[in-house]
Amino acid sequence: MADYDIAKMQKKLSKYLDEDRYNHTLGVMYTSAALAMVHGCNLRAAQTAGLLHDSAKCIPNKKKLKMCSQHKIPVTDFEKSHPFLLHAKLGAYLAKEKYGVEDEEILSAITYHTTGKAAMSPLEKIVYIADYIEPGRFKAPHLENVRKLAFQDLDECMYEILKDTLVFLEENPKDVDSATKDAFVYYKDLHMERQRSRLSS
Ligand code: FE
Ligand code: FE
Repeated sequence: MADYDIAKMQKKLSKYLDEDRYNHTLGVMYTSAALAMVHGCNLRAAQTAGLLHDSAKCIPNKKKLKMCSQHKIPVTDFEKSHPFLLHAKLGAYLAKEKYGVEDEEILSAITYHTTGKAAMSPLEKIVYIADYIEPGRFKAPHLENVRKLAFQDLDECMYEILKDTLVFLEENPKDVDSATKDAFVYYKDLHMERQRSRLSS
């Protein structure tokens, strides 16, 4: 993959994010890097994806919708009613067009960092998890356990995060994206499967 100039991207990105979002972004970049080290993933790819995952976060919702139609990025009805979700797709667009990122693996990790999906790649899981556990986060339940699990088993960690996310979102079931439900079913099945094989061995 291309050797991206992280420092240069970081400087540019800082102009488009507010202070809190920028600090969160650095947390996700370093956490993604640490997870890549422990799980044997490409370090530069993890840093780049972590750095750029929220690059579209500070664009106002109206402008997000406008940019999607301008650049022919497909928008689902669900996204139309929950436009904050579009920062993921738009982030991947900006990563490619404004930051010169060509690697599909990185762009896909940015695209799915908010909803997750079934059968994610290691890099997709790393960015999704890093977004949830970076040191600046403090609101989610069971964070201590989820943080530890992230460095031990990415699939089990996905299962725990999705489970907690759905409990949280279930207060408003209309607000759960189908990709998140698919992801939960997938990682739950994986979890059950492993428990069964552990019991039978
Ligand atoms: Fe995000
Ligand atoms: Fe984020």
